[in-house]
Amino acid sequence: MAYDFDFFVIGGGSAGVRCGRIAAGHGARVGVAEERFWGGTCVNIGCVPKKFMVMAAEYGASMQDARGFGWDSAKGAHDWAKLIAAKDTEIGRLNGTYRRLLNNAGAQIFEAHASFIDAHTLDVGRQRITADKIVIATGGHPTRLDIPGAALGIVSDDAFYLPALPRHIVIIGSGYIAVEFAGIFAGLGAETHLVFRQPAPLRGFDEDIRAGLADALAQGGVHMHPGVAPVAITEDAGRKHVTLSDGSTIETDMVFFATGRAPNVGSLNLAAVGVQTAPSGAVIIDDTLATNIPNIYAIGDVTDRLNLTPVATAEGHALADSLFGGKPRKVSLENVPTAVFSIPPIATVGLSEAQAAARGPARIFTTHFTPMRHNISGRSRKTLMKLVVDAKTDRILGAHMLGEDAPEIIQGLAIAIIAGATKADFDQTIGIHPTAAEEFVTLRTQTRLVGE
Ligand code: NDP
Repeated sequence: MAYDFDFFVIGGGSAGVRCGRIAAGHGARVGVAEERFWGGTCVNIGCVPKKFMVMAAEYGASMQDARGFGWDSAKGAHDWAKLIAAKDTEIGRLNGTYRRLLNNAGAQIFEAHASFIDAHTLDVGRQRITADKIVIATGGHPTRLDIPGAALGIVSDDAFYLPALPRHIVIIGSGYIAVEFAGIFAGLGAETHLVFRQPAPLRGFDEDIRAGLADALAQGGVHMHPGVAPVAITEDAGRKHVTLSDGSTIETDMVFFATGRAPNVGSLNLAAVGVQTAPSGAVIIDDTLATNIPNIYAIGDVTDRLNLTPVATAEGHALADSLFGGKPRKVSLENVPTAVFSIPPIATVGLSEAQAAARGPARIFTTHFTPMRHNISGRSRKTLMKLVVDAKTDRILGAHMLGEDAPEIIQGLAIAIIAGATKADFDQTIGIHPTAAEEFVTLRTQTRLVGE
């Protein structure tokens, strides 16, 4: 049977745009549907605008720090509306770029909602479209907790379009989004409270990094509320009241749920084709990115595996190469480096100390120091670096950093770790001086041995 397209991509985010563009480049007849904005979460309401907002927050601190270096600078008022307008202009440019990338590759784009009619037929903006193969790349959305008054809170989608900076905000959660926005709001001058149920933020990260981040957030002016969860939110004369599990209440202008994301599957009519999903809604795939239906695939956050843009784009690229490029390949989710753009940021690759210790003996090397800049700026800020080394093979199992430029530094180390670098390789590498990064190649004294 002749189909309208060889390949139809549902969703024009990081995963879908890359997948459609590469598939079209391989000569496939490709259609891509996007109902909201090209570039998806990352470009519009995620990584990219978030990083601009982190930069905005950091400028305030930099102006204060510059005084130590002789500049007669003072931190003045921040113009939130100007920041949001500048961010929107840049995001608009990027939207256009993503759209153009697909067009230039020869894909046909549809600015419409797509849903399944059967395994080869879609309803795309009320148009029946058939395709041989279909990939679901619809991403996810932020969720609120199921507590009374939850609708009074915002989520990250809203945070990018607030008309004004709240004077006082309560952020719930301590995952990526919570700690990143805590830095943004506190850095821009809002009284910021972080409410989370764990003893330290960022569950799953290395414990030293978690403890260091808790200190850094507090030093950055964030009011920390560990070990509690919200139980209800009420509103009175425009003020919100958040009742916590310890019985206390915080009065605030704004409540922000940063409590996880859920896959966008609700309006795809997956039931019509029997695509299997997990209880979370995540589309279940195998290691070739295939669902249980032979011609239907899924990539990116809708699969709820590692919800990171570079993973989504890698999956999109691999799927297109596998299906249309004659180069079947898989994406490894081992040793995926990741960064949290807290202030200062965190970056990590490989195993935490606890994960390594659970597997066998590991040598731990740590260093904790005041970055050079702050010996003069006077800012109370520490950098933490850590290597986790397999005691038997000498291979580096994990590298972790909390501190300025951490994401830029760990990206390079991730290559070395994936290539199987040993501690001896790090030791024989000459440092670049004076940098923070050189500490990773000059760590000579073992802090402890674990996992024996
Ligand atoms: P996360 O899953 O990272 O964090 C969710 C937070 O909500 C956790 O602190 C969690 O606590 C808390 N939480 C969940 N349920 C409850 C509950 N019932 N009561 C109290 N607290 C609760 O989600 P995010 O929303 O921060 O981000 C979603 C994903 O998006 C991330 O995991 C990441 O994959 C991706 N992302 C990546 C970024 C990057 O690469 N820099 C930036 C932003 C997002 P607990 O830990 O106790 O479960």
